[in-house]
Amino acid sequence: MKRRDILKGLTILPLTSGLIGKAAALHTLTTPKPAPKRDFFKELDVTPVINAGVTMTFLSGSLMLPEVLEAINSTSHDFANMYELQDKVGGKIAEMLHVEAAMVTSGASCAIVLGTAAAITGTDQSKIKQLPNLPDPRPEVIMQKTHRYLFDQAVSTTGAKIVEVDGPEGMENAINSNTVMALFFNASEKKSSITHDEFVRIAKKHNIRTFIDAAADVPPVENLFKFQKMGFDLITFSGGKMIHGPQSAGLLFGRKDLITAARLNHSPNEAPIGRPMKVNKEEMFGMYAALKVYLEKDHHKEWNDWLQRAKRIGTTLETVSTVKTEVVVNPGPANAFPSLNVTWDQTKVKTNPKDVLVALKSGTPSIVANRHDDTLIIGVVLLRPDQIDVVASRVKAILQQAV
Ligand SMILES: *Cc1c(COP(=O)(O)O)cnc(C)c1O
Repeated sequence: MKRRDILKGLTILPLTSGLIGKAAALHTLTTPKPAPKRDFFKELDVTPVINAGVTMTFLSGSLMLPEVLEAINSTSHDFANMYELQDKVGGKIAEMLHVEAAMVTSGASCAIVLGTAAAITGTDQSKIKQLPNLPDPRPEVIMQKTHRYLFDQAVSTTGAKIVEVDGPEGMENAINSNTVMALFFNASEKKSSITHDEFVRIAKKHNIRTFIDAAADVPPVENLFKFQKMGFDLITFSGGKMIHGPQSAGLLFGRKDLITAARLNHSPNEAPIGRPMKVNKEEMFGMYAALKVYLEKDHHKEWNDWLQRAKRIGTTLETVSTVKTEVVVNPGPANAFPSLNVTWDQTKVKTNPKDVLVALKSGTPSIVANRHDDTLIIGVVLLRPDQIDVVASRVKAILQQAV
């Protein structure tokens, strides 16, 4: 992709330019243009969407980086032993994240299933074979009452029972011989009755494994290192959110014995609970490539670029009478990045955010944004550079029409 941009740039330079003097460049310039690529969106009549929101699974997560596509394309021509591949990719990811072990899962949801399964079965093949139909008593997983969320069904999928607790004392009292794990939902940290540190301390005291779901909690990049330092045994992040890996990939990392057990519960083994949650070879390479770019990129520069995008759209929209915009940063821990809040006097600009969203979505190109009460929220972090002005002018036109 980058290469094509460079070539496009070159074609508008005068031929006398020093750059063009190079034989290689001349050769590429005289090579005929490739035939137009097959357009699968058109072929299947699928609507391409501009995501002016946040990463959402129903909207296909995030766009894969060129390096991820390179990893996928360049590795698709040879077979690989999937045990070896998971060994090597997992080993490299563990090194990059300063943990004992890591693996690529089919998303954070799969990581929760596999992490819970690992805590239940260890390396016991008979238990691995029985899951989720273990004989009574059911294994128990502790969660704070205020941390219950939709994704904890991935815990119950293993046959484990979730036991809700409140406060450190409640947690301590709930631990018994059936307790296999304690799960912390990081995005609910502000609603916690038990802090991260207390949670880990109590669990360790009773030899209970700890798991933290931080699926959508980068940026900041530091979060990829934060929870292993706190002492959590298992950690998950989605691959297809702000890390920009394959949507169906995710990371599970932490203690070596637990990753070993998680892998025994996963594909390419034929029977276990994780077998239907296969990750293909290309996506394993792709997840590695995405993480490498993510760790090495200039996060400060990216952040400033996001702020500039939001300001740019804001400046365009404020040319409409009464429209006010504000660049806001979501406090996180999930989706902690800038976006643009847009408000207006609805007696002068006679429309509301709900109707604007409908107009954006049904227009061409189709744009998905968000709202909160009377505020239209325009996300900027998932826009391609060429989509920034498209979004600005579409929103402006819709508001202008209502004046
Ligand atoms: C997105 C998300 C998940 C699911 O992750 P996938 O990678 O889509 O499987 C789980 N937990 C939280 C908190 C999430 O935000």
